[in-house]
Parts: sequence; C-alpha cells; structure tokens
Amino acid sequence: MKKLFASFFVILIILSLASCNSKDKTMSKEEGKLNIVATIFPYYDFVRNLTGDKANVKMLLSPGVEPHHYEPSPSDIIDINNADLFIYTGGESDEWAETIVESLDSDVRVLKLIDTVKTYNEEETDKTVGDETDEHIWTSPRNAVEITKNISREINLLDENNRDYFKENSKKYLSQLTELDNEFKNITKNAKRNKIVFGDRFPILYFVKEYNLDYECAFPGCSSETEPGIATVNHLIDTVKEEKIPVIFYLDFSNQAVANLLCEDSNAKPMLYHSCHNITQEDYNNGETYISLMKENAKAIKEALN
Ligand SMILES: [Zn+2]
Repeated sequence: MKKLFASFFVILIILSLASCNSKDKTMSKEEGKLNIVATIFPYYDFVRNLTGDKANVKMLLSPGVEPHHYEPSPSDIIDINNADLFIYTGGESDEWAETIVESLDSDVRVLKLIDTVKTYNEEETDKTVGDETDEHIWTSPRNAVEITKNISREINLLDENNRDYFKENSKKYLSQLTELDNEFKNITKNAKRNKIVFGDRFPILYFVKEYNLDYECAFPGCSSETEPGIATVNHLIDTVKEEKIPVIFYLDFSNQAVANLLCEDSNAKPMLYHSCHNITQEDYNNGETYISLMKENAKAIKEALN
C-alpha cells in the first residue's frame, strides 16, 4: 500500500507540473540525441566523456550541494521519466530513486551501479563492519573502470548510429582511468607507510580496500556526526604523534574542525581529499573532472604516505 501510494504521488507531481509553469526547468530535448540523467557528479562526468556532444546529460545533484540530503524536484522526476537512461548508485543517499524507478515506463533504461561492483559494508570507527552497504563505490578508480564499461554498454545499445564514436571515446577514457589506477598502485606500493588519517568522515572505503591501505578516521562512512568523542580524538592524536603521520585529511564541504584540531596538536598538516560525491561550484566552473580531482588526491596521498 505504501508503495502504491508513493507511485501515485509521483504521478500526481508529474500531472500537476504538466499543467503549470514551473521556474524549475526541465531538460531541453533535442531530436536524435540521447537523454541521460545521472544522480551525481562522477557518473555525469563518465557519461559526458563517453558521449561528447551526442547526448543531453543532466546531473541531478547541483554542484556545491551537500550530497546526503538531496531530494528530487518535480522537474528532476519529469526528466528521469523522459530519459533514455537513468543512472544512480542505489545506496543510502538515493533511496528516493527506488520509488521513481518502480513507476517508470519500460522505455527508460535504468542502471543501478551498486549492483555492478563488489560492495563493502560501512565500517565503524573501530573498523567493525556495520550492516549498511557503503555507497561510495566511485572512490576506487577500478570501480570507475567497471562503471564506465557498464555505462558504455548501455549507450551502445541505445544509439547504434553513434556506436563507433562512443566506442572510440570509451577506449580513450578507460585508458585514462587505468593510468590513474596505475598511478595509485605505484604510489601505494613505493610508499614509506600505509596508513592515512582522516580528521573527518570516511567515504573512501572502496579506495583503501583497492590499494590495501590502513586508515583511521574521526567518523565512519558518511556519518552526519560533527563532534567526535573525546576517546576518538585522543586516539587519533596519539596515532598521529606516535607514527609521525604527516598529513591529516579533510573533505570538501567540511568545516575542517577536527582536522585542524589534530594538526594543532601535532606536526601534521591538513590536506583536502576530494570524495567526488559532489563537486564544488568553483571546481565545476573551472572544468575539473573526476580524473583531475583524483590526480590531486594522488598528490596528497603520496605526501601522506611518505
Ligand atoms: Zn557520502
């Protein structure tokens, strides 16, 4: 009954929007081009690398918006309904998508990416495994390769006329992602240490699993906590001092409070790590990409491990 009601609600929104002028603009359709809707920046970026100007691509989460509290607007729902392909993670932050997906016509292809990679459950601060699947699958470049291959397969099916063009782009982009993966392999293999410390949330479990890194963090996963317990802070300070950890990471959209606190008490310096869950407005305007942000991460990781 709850499901039925939710679908009904989605339909009501669509109907009510069809009959009024909303300030909230829907995607403009161009004849002969694929319409693709992706929930978050990394998927949007993979798609635009594959399709170039041969598709209309919409990212639902606007640049600069905190990614964990997003709710689709009525025009977002219309765009998903009008899309040829809808791409989402299928994790905690986009549970809203399930209701929409259930109500979609069969001519909208759906790519739920969490089903396409090996997943891990979120870990608590003490590294015990929780029961919620970690949703930050794109943080590992190996997963980015798998995700790109999956998106590539979909667009090749949807637009046969541009298949050669898509395949060429896919080949180029996959080689750039593989190069990125190799860069992280080299950095982690040749590093002096293998532990990184986050004075922040910890959304990069897939990344550390990929490169066999150890980690300490102030908050597990994408916890919405902002004040770590005193025991956690003391433990982090002890670790940083004893192991002479040179870098404490903080994330974009963070107030850096915990990272700064840890650095005040040690010789470590605070550095930014891009989770790529979303992109800041400034980075977006400057044309930053998943690969350019991850290359900045690579420099930071190199410094943190040496
Ligand atoms: Zn997150």
